[in-house]
Amino acid sequence: MLTKSLFKTGQDCPKSLWMTVHRPEEKAPLSAANQARMTSGQAVGELARTRYPGGTLVQPWGLTTEESIEHTRAAMGNGDAYIFEATFSKDEFLARADILIRQEEGWHLQEVKASGRYKKEDHLNDVAFQVFVARRAGLKIVKASVLHLNKDHIWNGEPFEANSVFAETDITAEVESVLDQIAQSSTSYIELWEKAEYPMLDGTAPHFDPGIRPTCRDCDFKKHCFDRAPKDHIFFVGMHHSRVKKLKGEGITLVGDVPAGFVTDAKEKLRFDALLTKESQVSGELASRLAEIQYPAYLIDFETLRPDLPIIPGTSPFELLPFQWSCHILSEPPLTDENVGIHREFLHLEPSDPRPEFCRSLHDLLSKGGSILIYSKYEITTLKDLAAKGIPFAQDLLDLAPTRFIDLEDILKECYADHRFGGQTSIKAVLPVVCPELSYKGLAIQNGDQAQIEYIQTYSAKLTPERRTEIFDALKEYCKLDTLAMVKVLKALYLKT
Ligand code: SF4
Repeated sequence: MLTKSLFKTGQDCPKSLWMTVHRPEEKAPLSAANQARMTSGQAVGELARTRYPGGTLVQPWGLTTEESIEHTRAAMGNGDAYIFEATFSKDEFLARADILIRQEEGWHLQEVKASGRYKKEDHLNDVAFQVFVARRAGLKIVKASVLHLNKDHIWNGEPFEANSVFAETDITAEVESVLDQIAQSSTSYIELWEKAEYPMLDGTAPHFDPGIRPTCRDCDFKKHCFDRAPKDHIFFVGMHHSRVKKLKGEGITLVGDVPAGFVTDAKEKLRFDALLTKESQVSGELASRLAEIQYPAYLIDFETLRPDLPIIPGTSPFELLPFQWSCHILSEPPLTDENVGIHREFLHLEPSDPRPEFCRSLHDLLSKGGSILIYSKYEITTLKDLAAKGIPFAQDLLDLAPTRFIDLEDILKECYADHRFGGQTSIKAVLPVVCPELSYKGLAIQNGDQAQIEYIQTYSAKLTPERRTEIFDALKEYCKLDTLAMVKVLKALYLKT
C-alpha cells in the first residue's frame, strides 16, 4: 500500500522509494536523532488532540489496517465530532489522518506538524496526499489545514494549553490546486515499485543515480548509492545540484568529461581540480588569508538546542537555547602536534535558562583581543538571535564579529581542496583527511544532534544524578574535540603554505 510516508519518500527520490520496497535490508538504521524527532512528534500529536475534547482515537497499534478502517467507519457512523488517526484506503492507497473534524457539509482534515509554521515545501504535498486518498475512499473533505506550533506563544510554566501552543493554517485552496499532480505522482510510484529492477540506471554503475537531489547526502540509502559511485563522479565536486543536473542532462557524469569553461567559480574550480587530478589544490591566497589571524586566537564552537515544546518558562516553541561552548586558545600558529593551546569551556549544568550565563562567560573569555575563529557562520547567527532577545552581553559579543571573527571554513573553501573531502567542507568531512588520528568514533556523543538529545534529558527531574554526570562528561568531551579539530585544520592549512 502507498502510505503518506512512502509517498513522501518517492517525492524525495523515486529510487529511494524503490529501494524501500525492494531492498529494505540496505536501509540505514534509524538514527538516534530521527528516533528522538519521532518521539517528540508523537508528544506534539498527543497534545494537539487535547484541542478537541471527546474525540475518538482509532488506535494505530494492535489493530490490522482493516480493523482500523472499520473503527474509523464506526466512529463516523456514530456521529463523532472528532476522530484521531482516522484510517481509510482505496485501491493501493492508504492514509491515516491525524485529525478529522466533522463539518456540516463533510469533513475537515487536519495534519499536525511539529514545526513553528506552515512550510509549503514540506507540508503541502503531505496533506494533499491524505486528501487525495480520503476522497478516493469516498469521504467528502471540505477543508484541509495544518496545525503547527505557535512560535509567538510564550510558555508560562503551567501545563501546556493546546489552544495557545498551536496555530492553524488553512491550506484548502493550495491542496485543491495540487491534487491532480498528487494523483499522477501516486500512480507513477505504484508503477515504479512494481518493477523488479530499478529502471533509472545511468550506465556508469548499476543503481547509482545521485547528483540531482539535495536529499542524497542525508539519504538512508546513501551507502548503497555512494559505494557504487565512480570516484570521479561530478557529484563529488560539491557543485549546486542544479549544476550537476544540467551536466547529467547533457549525459556528462565524470569530471574528465566536463567541458572547459563550465567551471568558472574559483572555489568550485579548486574542488573540481582536486577531483580531476586526485591531488590537493592550494590557492595562492592561502598565506595572506592566514596572515589575517591575530594571536592569541580563540577557536570557538557552540552547542545549542531548539526544543519544539518549550522547556523553560518565558520561552516559545523552537526558541534557540545555546547551552555549551568550547574554546582552544592559541598564542601562536599551531605548527606542531604539541601546540594545541589552552582549553576553556562552559556547560550549563542547571535545568534553567542557559543563555545569560552562556553569554556572560563567553564575554569574559573574549574580552581581551585577538582573532575569534569559528567554523561556519552558526556562531554569529546564534549571537544575533540572543542579541535580538535582549540577553545581556549578546550584543557586545556580536559587535566583535566585524573586526575579530574569522570563519575558518571560508578560508578552507577559498584556499584548499582535497578529492577525499567528497566535495564537502564540514569539519567532519575534512578532519579524517587532515588528521586521521583524531576521530569522533568511540565518543559517547559523536555529533551535534546527539548532543542536543542528550542535553535535553538533563531537564528531566526523573534523571538520576549518575546519568546526568555521565551526559555532562560526554558533552564536554565532544565539544572539546570540535575545537581541537579546528586547531588541527588550522595546522593543516599553515603546513600548506
Ligand atoms: S542516495 Fe540519492 S539517488 Fe540514492 S536513493 Fe538516496 S536520494 Fe536517491
